[in-house]
Amino acid sequence: MFNNLSNINQQQLKVWVEEALAQTKSGNLPTYIPLLAEANPNSFAVVLRSLDNHILSLGDVETKVPLMSVIKPFLLFYLLSKFGNEFVFNIVGKEPSEKPFNSLEQLEADGGWPINPMINSGAIALSSLLPGNTATERCKNFCSWFNNYGICKLFLDENMLASVRSLPNQNNRAIAQKLLESGYIKDAEITLDTYNQICCLSGSIFDVANLGILLVKPPNSEWKKYCLTVQELMTTCGLYEASSRYALEIGIPTKSSVSGIVLGVVPTVGVIVCYSPPLDRQGNSVVGLFLLEVISRNLDSSVFC
Ligand code: GLN
Repeated sequence: MFNNLSNINQQQLKVWVEEALAQTKSGNLPTYIPLLAEANPNSFAVVLRSLDNHILSLGDVETKVPLMSVIKPFLLFYLLSKFGNEFVFNIVGKEPSEKPFNSLEQLEADGGWPINPMINSGAIALSSLLPGNTATERCKNFCSWFNNYGICKLFLDENMLASVRSLPNQNNRAIAQKLLESGYIKDAEITLDTYNQICCLSGSIFDVANLGILLVKPPNSEWKKYCLTVQELMTTCGLYEASSRYALEIGIPTKSSVSGIVLGVVPTVGVIVCYSPPLDRQGNSVVGLFLLEVISRNLDSSVFC
């Protein structure tokens, strides 16, 4: 059904979006990144794109948004394609966490072993593997690779990066320090700087949809197995503590970000990307999750159907 996007019209999508937008007020903007705290809570965009290039969209689809944690599945995919499973999963685990995305407590409880790549500890550890001499070079290489393969125009949002740096994140610093002590990273400064830069890679919701397609159909068939690993980890860990709940309610691999993006990957079929800044207590876009649930239900796109 999702395959045939032409069966749903703009009017149908509009009805679902209106239902979802009624949830806007139940979320809050994040406060720890000043520029995100100033976002317009009513900004909204959605793009559905199938592999056979049917596209349906609504809202401010050209607004540029920092990917933040939506970069995490792509970081994992990139490193798997370069270094393979064994190398990558020596640095990071595959288990879900019941703790928040930025939990130091979880990392400490695991003796400094980052439990999965979809939370900060795992993504910070993985950032240290990116090829390049400086953080800027690492971020540039990483960004160009995706712009080449993903047919998108990601760019480093320097204002967002300045905003992230203006209020140093002590929690992420403590995570990096712990990872250094446990031997999973070698340089806390360059690793954190790399992580912050890749989180500030930005693009339109169309760009995120094009990028997401790489996780459905990789440019190289050898990488199919890595797409499946990324999809699995998105399903079990992509929405942090709420992952298992939404694995049932949405039923597709999903990743959220503090900037309000929710990326849903429909295996073998396509992607659904939504942007709406107000977040729930776990840090997931309330409108995004609601809309993904409605779309998934109506289009029978859950992998459990
Ligand atoms: N850069 C953000 C952070 O480290 C990313 C977190 C997120 O999107 N949830 O807190």
